[in-house]
Amino acid sequence: MSKRDELIKLKEEMEKDERLPLKKEATRLVFGSGNAEARILFIGEGPGFHEDQQGIPFVGNAGNLLNKLLESVNLTRDKVSANGKEAIFITNVVHHRPPANRDPLPEELSAYGAYLDKMIEIINPKMIVTLGRFSMGKFLPGEKISGIHGKKFMVKWHGKDLVIVPMYHPAAALRNGNVMNQLKEDFLKIAEYFKESNKPVVKQENLI
Ligand code: URA
Repeated sequence: MSKRDELIKLKEEMEKDERLPLKKEATRLVFGSGNAEARILFIGEGPGFHEDQQGIPFVGNAGNLLNKLLESVNLTRDKVSANGKEAIFITNVVHHRPPANRDPLPEELSAYGAYLDKMIEIINPKMIVTLGRFSMGKFLPGEKISGIHGKKFMVKWHGKDLVIVPMYHPAAALRNGNVMNQLKEDFLKIAEYFKESNKPVVKQENLI
């Protein structure tokens, strides 16, 4: 089965899952969108009003900013990589809108997290860019975003090596000019980190 088909199957499974804690109050599932073969996965927090209406992540104000940031570093939300632009995949830590856009609760993060893990397994990205503290907390628990944003972390995730790059959430950048400047700077590092993550591993045996 192709990765695209596997993701469609997972989406159908989620749509049928009546135990998902935020399902009742949401309009629809916001599974994620982009290229199923993506080498870079972006993970945000959760759907807001517009995402809940349209079923697509990051289509409101934060999404407009994210689109500009992606374009500025030759990444695209188009389904395929073309014209020198790398196609990515975008999803969230919870896939139904929390009521009144409140923060997701620990039990919600864990319920949706099981599906997010399957998504990561299917896409099998080289690098994950986390947007905001909840997404960062999944891979780097106990860290503070102000101290580690824009840095690169090697994480073993379910037996696989992943490069995790935590970043501020675009919505936070829209509220604060300093955060906006930092987010723009952090985005500029993506290409360099990505190149490094693709380097073949050089064995350093018998050097002396
Ligand atoms: N903010 C998020 O974290 N995710 C979305 O999909 C939209 C806004």
